[in-house]
Formats: sequence, structure tokens, C-alpha cells
Amino acid sequence: MRLPISLFTLTAAGTTAFVPLPASRSTALSAAVNGESAKGSTAEVTTKNDSSSTKKFHYEYIARKARPHFDILSRTVTDKDVPLIYLDSGATSQKPGAVLEKLDDYYKRVNSNVHRGAHTLSREATSAYEEARDKVSSFINAHSRNEIVFTSGATEAINLVAQSYGRTNLKAGDEVVLTVAEHHANLVPWQMLSQEIDGGLTIKYVRIDPETGCLDLKHMESLLTEKTKIVGFQHVSNVLGCINPVKDMVSMVRDKSPNAKIILDACQSVPHMPVDVQELDVDFLAASGHKMCGPTGIGFLWGREDLLNSMPPWKGGGEMIDQVTLEGSTYLPSPSRFEAGTPAIAQAVGLAAAIDYLTSFGMKEIEAYEHELAEYLYDQMKQVPGLTILGPPNGKQRVALCAFTHESIHPSDLSTFLDMEGVAVRAGHHCCQPLHQELGFSHSARASLYLYNTKE
Ligand code: PLP
Repeated sequence: MRLPISLFTLTAAGTTAFVPLPASRSTALSAAVNGESAKGSTAEVTTKNDSSSTKKFHYEYIARKARPHFDILSRTVTDKDVPLIYLDSGATSQKPGAVLEKLDDYYKRVNSNVHRGAHTLSREATSAYEEARDKVSSFINAHSRNEIVFTSGATEAINLVAQSYGRTNLKAGDEVVLTVAEHHANLVPWQMLSQEIDGGLTIKYVRIDPETGCLDLKHMESLLTEKTKIVGFQHVSNVLGCINPVKDMVSMVRDKSPNAKIILDACQSVPHMPVDVQELDVDFLAASGHKMCGPTGIGFLWGREDLLNSMPPWKGGGEMIDQVTLEGSTYLPSPSRFEAGTPAIAQAVGLAAAIDYLTSFGMKEIEAYEHELAEYLYDQMKQVPGLTILGPPNGKQRVALCAFTHESIHPSDLSTFLDMEGVAVRAGHHCCQPLHQELGFSHSARASLYLYNTKE
């Protein structure tokens, strides 16, 4: 991970001029990353240039094992052919060979439409698609495969809830409690729903506690009433990097707002840690496949089966009907009722391969490694003069994601300068404009890491 070193160089120069320095790679690690001395899968790596002088990376074997599976990580960028350092996995993750091969194999050998044919290819495509549903179901410990609705991503999953559950169950004056930290995907659908309802909804936003840099849970408690019908929040913030205490938040909602349904945006948690919907006890969960080593164009909504079956379809067409006459139609139960038209079959198959890939490392192990990375990233960035890191400090639960601003360099310039060194970070509002406004910034730069990033 060259980012901190590059930034340090940047600020050490004392001006906005960018002075690229060669990355001071630890030879042992470098060799290990390149597979030269990767003996055994549980090697413990000791590094010597941490603030704590010596820090052990118990789980770095994960990155060493993973990196060769991602061809893209060995490419070079810019006209200087510098090696790519990909620190933008919060936006989308890279895809391992196993996923790409599965997609290739699907299109070369199986490609057909699902649920509609008795021929071999159609049966095989249907099995592969439905097996993908089983994979997602057990990955998040759903009660039943019927609780998994494939969508194009988390955005569509949340829109489904707003347009189906929301339109049917919410009326003027009902309250929706969201947080200022939400991604636009969990803000705009509720604002759109409010506009559709004559008289509108009352949307309230949980603020950030300036002391902790996390959601202000006392404020949240004060917003919840018996009129609250929807509570929506992220599991992990894509800007603050904090892990929200979902179970505490859920019990607060159940206590104060027994009529509310809880929707969890798990886009930034499902790829990085074990997520168990039964344990979290939310009502809906949304996630995107492309952030968890899967293809773009696939994600899923999880909801309890009885709840999903109580909701009307929000898109009509083939695949979701029971009977159609010229007078009207009846619908299949979940998940089919929400999957009108030809689904993203290959993408679902690719997502299943991604789940196999992640589980081959173990989600607990990935979480443990990323926890090490998170601490290291934060500690290194904290040492860079002029940087403000958004979100809570180390010690609070953080993921390996840091959004930051610099006192004299615009985030877009930072991102451009880093790109010249091959370092891919994102600059912008990260689809969290209200959060940035709340924090007093228009934009930030963001480094977000995944299992294939090393400390380097
Ligand atoms: N929620 C969060 C926290 C995200 O980070 C993202 C994507 O950046 C989304 C929702 C939307 O995901 P998608 O664009 O894949 O639908």
C-alpha cells in the first residue's frame, strides 16, 4: 500500500507540488506478495516501520494468497508504466480468475434462458441460477432461499422496498428515520416515495456525534416514535469507515418503534465480514455483488419470506406471474414475484463463484485481516500533516477504508497526483453529499482496501 508514503512525500514537500518517491517496500513482504517465499498459508509477517515499531500481520497470508488470482493487480498504469495499487474497492472490487472463468464457462457451455425450457441448456442455466440463490442464502444465513431476491445491485434492492413495501404501507405523516451518513441509494428512494404520497412523509435524519465521529445513537433514540414506519441505516459507512452497532440499533427501534421495518444497507459489510441476517434481526438487507468480487449488474435483497410475500410486485412482466388473463394477473410468491423478465443469469452465477472464492478464505479470516489493514491504514494516514480523516479514530470499530481531506490540496488533485504514482483512490462525495455537508466538506478522497491489498 503506497498511499501513505506518497501522501507523506506530498506533504513533506511543504507545497502542493507532488514529489513522487519510490515506495520503500519491505523486501520480505514484497517477495512474499510476489509469491517468492510464500511458504505455508499461515505465515506470520513482522514489519518494522509502524508507529508501534513492530507490528505483526497475522493474516497477511490472505493477501499473499489472493493477489495472484487477480491479474489486473499486476498491470501497470500511466505512461510511466507504474504498478497499479488499487485502493478503490469500496466503489467496486476486483474480480478473481475463478469468477472470470465461471462467467466464461457459463457463456461458452451453458448459456440459455432460465425457467422457460425443458431442454438441457435451459435446465442447466436454471440450476446454476437457482444454486446461486442457495449460495447467497447460506452466505448470509437466511432462513430460506425464497428470502433472496436478485436485483441489479443494492440500489435496486432498496428501491424495491421503497416502491413495494413503502407504497403499500406508508401514508402521509408516517415517519422514516434515516441517517445523514446514508449513501444516496438509501436516501433518494425514500424522498421519491415521500413526493409520491399526497401530504408526504416525515423524513428524519440521525446526526453524527462530533465527539465520536460515529452516528449519534442518543439522537437516533430521540427520533424514533410510534409513527416511525421505516428505519434505514448502513452496516458500515462508505465514508466514515465505522461499523455501526446494528444489534443495539435494532433493539432500540423494536423498543421505541414497534411498527417500523428496518432496512440495512450492507453494501460495505457483506464483502468484508461474516453477516448473519438471523443474528442481526433486521427486516430487509441490501447488498451489491460487484463489491464482493462478483460481476457488476447483480446484487440482492434479503427479506423475511412472510414479509416479502405480503408485498406486491413492483415490476410486471414475464417470470413473475402465476396466471395472466386479459382481465388481470396473479403473481408467484417470492422471490419470483420480484424478478420480472430475464434475470442477470450469468452475473448470478458469477456472484456464486465470488461467494465460493471468499468462503475459501473464510469471512472471519478476511475480517481479521482487514482489521489489521484498517488499523495500519489509519495509523499511517494519521501521521500525514495536514490530513483530516473522516470518521472515528482507531479504537472504535473501523474497516479498512479512510476518507480524508487535506488542508491545502483538493481531493480531486490528490487523486490525480496519486494516480500518477499508480495509486487508485476515489475523490468526490462518494454518493454521500448530505454527510459531507454535515461534516463541512464538499468532497473527500477515499482509500478503500480489500483482501488483496497488502500493507505495502
Ligand atoms: N450503499 C453503499 C454504502 C454503497 O457504498 C453503495 C455503492 O457505492 C451503494 C449503497 C450502492 O450500491 P450499487 O451502486 O452497487 O447499487
